[in-house]
Amino acid sequence: MLKDSWGRSITYLRVSVTDRCNLRCVYCMPPEGIRLLPHDAILRYEEIVEVVRCAAEHGVREVRLTGGEPLTRPNLPALVGMLAAIPGIQDISLTTNALLLERFALPLAEAGLKRVNISLDTLRPERFARITRGGSFEQAWRGILAAEAAGLAPIKINVVAMRGVNEDEFPELARLAVDHPWQVRFIEVMPIKNESPWGEDLPNSETAFIPIGEVQERLASLSLEPLDEKSGPGPAREYRIPGGLGRIGFISPVSEHFCATCNRLRLTSDGFLRPC
Ligand code: SAM
Ligand code: SF4
Repeated sequence: MLKDSWGRSITYLRVSVTDRCNLRCVYCMPPEGIRLLPHDAILRYEEIVEVVRCAAEHGVREVRLTGGEPLTRPNLPALVGMLAAIPGIQDISLTTNALLLERFALPLAEAGLKRVNISLDTLRPERFARITRGGSFEQAWRGILAAEAAGLAPIKINVVAMRGVNEDEFPELARLAVDHPWQVRFIEVMPIKNESPWGEDLPNSETAFIPIGEVQERLASLSLEPLDEKSGPGPAREYRIPGGLGRIGFISPVSEHFCATCNRLRLTSDGFLRPC
């Protein structure tokens, strides 16, 4: 079984299937996008499968597909099908901006995808377009509903908490977990290398940063009840809203590291393994 030099068991592999994306979220990419890898530098599906097969032989049980935007890579359901057939792999999930999910949710579920994490920082279409530099909220929302209809569960909604951008919507976003069996997770914004300005009238990752404790304070009116003390792997501390169908999670990569319980390894789209 895989153990790292700190004695942590590695059971989870996060696979980036592409460096390309159909959005340009302000906290993630510059407006012109990033310098892309040449196509022949990107792992072929057969090569990803080979790495995952080897990882599974060494104790990896969960695979998460991510990017860039993983659904921009042609025929992702075919990869999911190949991964689902690997002995030992028990859980395959996807992190996506949901824009292409309306088209792919059902074929992905049929191929063996179990669940999705969806990035959604606002419920206001104009604001969505500003944060993502041009994305359609309605298209993303249709993608979320398609994921639910396809039986992908639980649906986790990732909200990057940003001062001066979406802080006025935290209670509204959290209430998605009242009416839907979804987990809404608030995430601290992380500084990225070579950050370019977010745009006119927008902050940057430093001034937008809100410590997760403050996000929790802003949700005090919802009377959140903590679920079991955080113990196992996975970065979120979880709560329920009384009477709600879903859950609320808080992820604090900056103010309170969760490295001690980390069980992850990452495979980059060009085939490098990284611990974080
Ligand atoms: N394109 C997919 C998506 O947006 O869900 C998958 C890749 S994206 C890099 C994965 C997650 O990282 C998203 O939930 C996004 O919100 C988050 N993310 C990107 N840049 C971030 C930053 N600077 N701070 C915090 N979270 C960030
Ligand atoms: Fe980054 Fe995901 Fe936004 Fe694309 S959709 S810019 S990968 S956070």
